[in-house]
Amino acid sequence: MIEEKDISAFIYDVIIIGGGPSGLAAALYTSRARLKTLVIEGFTVPSQLAVISHIENYPGFPEGISGFGLAGKFKKQAERFGTEFITGDVSNIRPSKLQHFNIWQVEVKDKTYYSLSVVIASGARPKMLGIPGEEKFHGKGVSYCAVCDGAFFKYKDIVVLGGGDTAAEEAIFLTKFAKKVTLIHRRERLRATKVLQERVFSNEKIEVVWDSVVNEILGSEKVEAVRITNLKTKKEKGLHCEGVFIFIGLLPNTSFVKGVVELDKKGYLVVNDKMKTSGEGIFACGDCRQTILRQIVTACGDGATAAFSAHQYVEELKGTAYK
Ligand code: NAP
Repeated sequence: MIEEKDISAFIYDVIIIGGGPSGLAAALYTSRARLKTLVIEGFTVPSQLAVISHIENYPGFPEGISGFGLAGKFKKQAERFGTEFITGDVSNIRPSKLQHFNIWQVEVKDKTYYSLSVVIASGARPKMLGIPGEEKFHGKGVSYCAVCDGAFFKYKDIVVLGGGDTAAEEAIFLTKFAKKVTLIHRRERLRATKVLQERVFSNEKIEVVWDSVVNEILGSEKVEAVRITNLKTKKEKGLHCEGVFIFIGLLPNTSFVKGVVELDKKGYLVVNDKMKTSGEGIFACGDCRQTILRQIVTACGDGATAAFSAHQYVEELKGTAYK
């Protein structure tokens, strides 16, 4: 058994990697269980929550709430129970030893943190399309964040790519600024939830271009147009625009645990129903894990489960489990 007095001064019970909904929900639960908890919030890729324009499907907020507002509330609630926070990008997780016990060392730049357990809640980031002009005009008309960049496109023509919830939601948000929003989707129906579809279709500023993809983003200094191909007719056309917002799905932020725990083919963490990964004492929750639904509400549920499992694991390790 580890003597608690030996470890409590310099080692965490739980390190949570990621400060999005699942990480902050996990932190709330582990801190209330009086586990010494550190949340490492991403520096290069912060939580997607903060850049969601408006959330109306998280229970308890009938009028809706901004992503930034909800993120602030989640953090405040975890802080209230003693969660510690730092910001940084985790580069590695390595197994380590304390006396004869297995622990984890979590590396952030030139600093190392030690913990009995780890909860990976590192989320996902927007996928890039990989077409000519995308990289060249990133920050010069190409964006992956409507909340961050929408206001730069007042009275301008904007193109939104994608057919999921994000594309639909952010296309609607962008009509606050834009003269016109053209939503281009590769199929003849949207993947987005029905209520968002209804709003897209009834918004006079949005035109939907079906069965089409953008092959190239054109311009000299900034975005000036896109080249579109209709996948059914194979016809190509140019469309004038000054902004291109790309919302074609997500990629998991899991490269730092490759080879440490099991990932699926797409890079999502494989967990069981207790949110346990293949690594002893490593749990995962939220958008970075393999799941059928990626919502704030499911991320929070995941976080609570991961916290509960981490709590049980730590207590068993310390020999203090309530049996
Ligand atoms: P998503 O659901 O994966 O949708 C991505 C969209 O982009 C799909 O319509 C897809 O087309 C299209 N696409 C993918 N690759 C493409 C390519 N190479 N070229 C052209 N189009 C491409 O991604 P998301 O909308 O970012 O949502 C991610 C997750 O977050 C989902 O689980 C979503 O439900 C959730 N989310 C929820 C809310 C909410 O509840 N309010 C808001 C935002 C996001 P296909 O349809 O043909 O595959």
